[in-house]
Amino acid sequence: MKTVVCLSPGALELVERPLPQAAAGEVLLRVRRIGLCGTDMHIFRGTQPFLQYPRVMGHELSGEIVTAPEGSALAPGDQVYVMPYLSCGTCVACRQGKTNCCTNIQVLGVHRDGGMAEYLALPERFVFKTDGISLDDAAMLEFLAIGAHAVRRGGVRAGQKVLVVGAGPIGIAVALFARLNGGDVTVLDGRADRLAFCRTALGIEQTVAVDDEDKARLSALTGGEFFDVVFDATGNVKAMERGLEFVAHGGTYVLVSIVLDRISFADPEFHKRETSLLGSRNATAEDFRTVLAAMKAGHVPTGLMNTHRTTLAEFIDVLPRWMEPAAGVIKAIVEV
Ligand SMILES: [Zn+2]
Ligand SMILES: [Zn+2]
Repeated sequence: MKTVVCLSPGALELVERPLPQAAAGEVLLRVRRIGLCGTDMHIFRGTQPFLQYPRVMGHELSGEIVTAPEGSALAPGDQVYVMPYLSCGTCVACRQGKTNCCTNIQVLGVHRDGGMAEYLALPERFVFKTDGISLDDAAMLEFLAIGAHAVRRGGVRAGQKVLVVGAGPIGIAVALFARLNGGDVTVLDGRADRLAFCRTALGIEQTVAVDDEDKARLSALTGGEFFDVVFDATGNVKAMERGLEFVAHGGTYVLVSIVLDRISFADPEFHKRETSLLGSRNATAEDFRTVLAAMKAGHVPTGLMNTHRTTLAEFIDVLPRWMEPAAGVIKAIVEV
């Protein structure tokens, strides 16, 4: 089968590999769509430090069942999506249902080889029917589920003032689900094209460009009170530290980003707000179902989010170009 392997940072190769064998409890999946993610770009750049090369990328997956284990709810021919965070089911986090932060987590395409190939074998409990959505939409569930999870963590309620800092795909997902929860959403980003996307595709009218006046404008938008819930989706230390300034007294700060460095706050700023500080990692099966239901209800403009498209064979050539901000990629899909 054709497989794209990242041999080392900057080096992708299309190779032939033997068909994977489904072990007990596993399905064999014919991969049909792969969403391209910031994580994949980090792997290609060499800025994903916990990664062993060579690695097959690809964790935003949809496809068709080829074989399923005896007694499975899945059958050959079923269209499915993949929840790529393989969790152990027995650790302290899994026992609480928090499979998203399993202590033994194995993320497809990061800790073990992913789905940038024609076939993939994986445990059936991480594979779910698409339930009528298209294969394209099913390949977009994962990044949206990260946004839906963050919004659930932040407990966004109708009428709350919400700020999303960072309007990349994850920030866009957060903004979308915060608004679906009834939040009054503002987006802050340095890129005009991404703010324009939030206005035109998501209908979020309040967008603020990062500059010397941004804090004054955020203040003006909230009568000087700032925001009940602030989400950081920037992946930038300075932005993560600064975001605390935009949290209202009594408010919540949700860090969706991950950076390798330490982040720090002035304790008086943190304390005087009685800030609720939350991390948000990955997503659970419930979050995937939330996104799927929102898609079926027509609340997710997936057609506008899917800005770029290629094939497995052409992917190697287009990826370097798509990593340039000028390419304007929101979500690229690889067709297999
Ligand atoms: Zn992803
Ligand atoms: Zn676990």
